[in-house]
Amino acid sequence: MAQIAENLKTILNKIREIEKKADRAENTVKLVAVSKFHPAEAVIEAASAGQNLFGENRVQEAAAKFDEIRAKGINLDLHIIGSLQRNKVKEAVRIASCIESVDRIELLEEIEKQAAKINKSIEVLFEVHTGEDSKAGFTSEEDLTLAIERCAKGDFPHITPKGFMTMAPFTEDKELVRKSFVTLRELREKFQKTFPALDLCELSMGMSGDYDIAIEEGSTIVRIGTAIFGERVY
Ligand SMILES: *Cc1c(COP(=O)(O)O)cnc(C)c1O
Repeated sequence: MAQIAENLKTILNKIREIEKKADRAENTVKLVAVSKFHPAEAVIEAASAGQNLFGENRVQEAAAKFDEIRAKGINLDLHIIGSLQRNKVKEAVRIASCIESVDRIELLEEIEKQAAKINKSIEVLFEVHTGEDSKAGFTSEEDLTLAIERCAKGDFPHITPKGFMTMAPFTEDKELVRKSFVTLRELREKFQKTFPALDLCELSMGMSGDYDIAIEEGSTIVRIGTAIFGERVY
């Protein structure tokens, strides 16, 4: 288990190194430790090593795990990063500070409804489909514009939009991966100009296999699982 602490240290050092090489300010990339399929003990091990931001993609698994951890008095920050069904939104809003995988307007409506019920303010990222083979995320810029417009109009008072998330295609072709990240960065710049009243500062992109390229292209949040916790056993 000491392996997790060691992996975390390695990853954080690498992140700082790539920031520097890419001429980016230090500590501008946040690390989400993706603990899906790993037990509460692994999360606690990472927390003991100083990591306090985690990511999970299945709400039920996350709720069981993080309720258990928080019941021990360990207070950790959690992002939901997986595609979300409407009937899971209530739990997601209860356990997370940010939902990174908002891919349709109806989800915003449900998040607002559930957040209002418990009077909680929650952050969201808009997941955008930028790769060839992943199916997740907004595919239409028109729909995405409508969603952000509704936020800018104040339709969702309990929701704070913070930026964008994407998954690059699973391929060895690094240029395709880079293209995906560039697409998200350019989209963010464009939407930030269109909606200056919103603070769309975050770019959540980069996983174990491609976070170096993501940071070079401006990522502010990397979501790393395997390189910290090891292979997942499904
Ligand atoms: C699982 C997952 C990750 C982490 O992937 P690794 O390759 O294990 O680092 C990142 N983002 C999302 C959306 C995921 O589902």
